[in-house]
Amino acid sequence: MNIIPLGIWGGYPKANSATSSFLIEEGGFRLLFDCGSGVLSSLQNHIHIQQLDAVIVTHYHHDHIADIGALQYAKLIQNQLADEKKTLPIYAHNREDSFQTLTFKDHTKAVDITQTNQIGPFAIQTIKTNHPVYCLAVRIEANGKSVVLTADTGWEPALIDFSEKADLLISEANLYMQYEGQIPGHMTGRQAGLLAKEADVEQLLLTHLPHFGEAEDLVKEAQRHFSKNVSLAQPGKSYPFV
Ligand SMILES: [Zn+2]
Repeated sequence: MNIIPLGIWGGYPKANSATSSFLIEEGGFRLLFDCGSGVLSSLQNHIHIQQLDAVIVTHYHHDHIADIGALQYAKLIQNQLADEKKTLPIYAHNREDSFQTLTFKDHTKAVDITQTNQIGPFAIQTIKTNHPVYCLAVRIEANGKSVVLTADTGWEPALIDFSEKADLLISEANLYMQYEGQIPGHMTGRQAGLLAKEADVEQLLLTHLPHFGEAEDLVKEAQRHFSKNVSLAQPGKSYPFV
């Protein structure tokens, strides 16, 4: 499995960047995890649109879906240009009307992720997070390796068992410690580190970062609890798990 962060920002992207999103590859299968602002542009640094095999959308906040419409137009254009047309499945929960908008003619197709346990080579599990809207964390396993992506969440004890012994935990860390308990639906770097420790994961990457302060302080917060490898997710870098 190979993972490439496409963006790391919460809310909106900084210049020439993207909101939190990941390209996850295994055996030539390419899965896009969340599709907020700037993601479609960033994705094309790595693959052609038609090489994308599936998309996961964790919830319907703008910073996770803003580029879905642009992706659908890209599929329309590329399917017209291609000899072989490919329908792109977009996996998401169907608890909001927005689920229907993930289907666009025969270019993209909405699929209920809660009824799915396999996407290509990936075994998939989901769990509801602690967020103002219904949002799903996802555990992805392939080739004996496991990755958990928290998506957006405040502190949620159920994520400890869900993330147990994952090779990689990709956790949101949208808040600095001084905001802990004040802003619902997001975690601090400290809480991400505590989750990593309690779940006994091997490595922690922080994403969905705030637009102020020193982001490296989030790493220091996480290191209060988690003594293994922790860093800010780095856009464009490959994180391989052979
Ligand atoms: Zn959100």
